[in-house]
Amino acid sequence: MDTDIARNLHAVQSTLPEGVALVAVSKFHPADSLRAAYEAGQRIFGESRVQELVAKQAALPADIEWHFIGHLQTNKVKQIVPFISLIHSIDSPHLLDEVERCAARCGRTVDCLLQLHIAEEETKFGFSPDECRDYLASGAWRALSHVRLRGVMGMATLTDDENTVREEFESLHRFFGEIKASYFADDEKFSEISMGMSHDYRIALTCGTTMVRVGTLIFGERNY
Ligand SMILES: *Cc1c(COP(=O)(O)O)cnc(C)c1O
Repeated sequence: MDTDIARNLHAVQSTLPEGVALVAVSKFHPADSLRAAYEAGQRIFGESRVQELVAKQAALPADIEWHFIGHLQTNKVKQIVPFISLIHSIDSPHLLDEVERCAARCGRTVDCLLQLHIAEEETKFGFSPDECRDYLASGAWRALSHVRLRGVMGMATLTDDENTVREEFESLHRFFGEIKASYFADDEKFSEISMGMSHDYRIALTCGTTMVRVGTLIFGERNY
C-alpha cells in the first residue's frame, strides 16, 4: 500500500517538466497515506474540506505546505488562515475580504488564486471571466494588504472529449495572460495557473499549467 503510493507519486512526478508543481490531493485519504507520500518526498498537499484539513495539519509534519482547493465557506476561513500556504479557490470578492480580515488578525499574508469558471457545467464554483475583469477593474483588491494574489485556478468540464478540455485550459491560460498584462505586469509573484487533475493533467501540461492537482493517480480511488 505505502510502496504503491511512493511508486505512484514518482510516476506522476516523472511526467512533470521543471517549473510545474505537484499538489498531491489527499482529501478523503487517511493521514497514513499522506505520511507515505511525505516520506517519499512530497511536501505539497491539497485538501478540500476544512475539518479534515485542520485535523491532518495537526497530525502531520510541520514542513508540509497545505493548499486549500475546495469551495471555502466564509465562516470557516479563520480555521485555516493561521497555517494555509495557498488557497486555490477564491470565488468571490466577499471570500477574499474575509481572508484579508482573518490574515490581518493573524499577522499573516496569505497567497490566493482566483478561481475561474471555465467549464460547461453549471455547478462549478468560480468567477466568470467578466466578473473577474469587473472585480479587478474595481481596484478593491489593491487595498488588501494581507492577501497576495498569485494567479488563477480552473477546472475543465468532466468529459472524454479532449478538445473541449484543451479549449477550456487554453482559455484559462489566455485569461491569465490578459489580467497579468493589465494588472500584474510588474508583479513577478503573479505567476501561477493551477489546472489539471488525474484524468486531464497531461492536457494541462500542454496548455501552460504551472500547478497540477493530482489525487487519484497517487492515492487511488476515494471512498466518499
Ligand atoms: C478532488 C480534486 C482534485 C483531484 O482530483 P483527482 O481526479 O483525484 O486527481 C483536483 N482539484 C480539485 C479542485 C479537487 O476537488
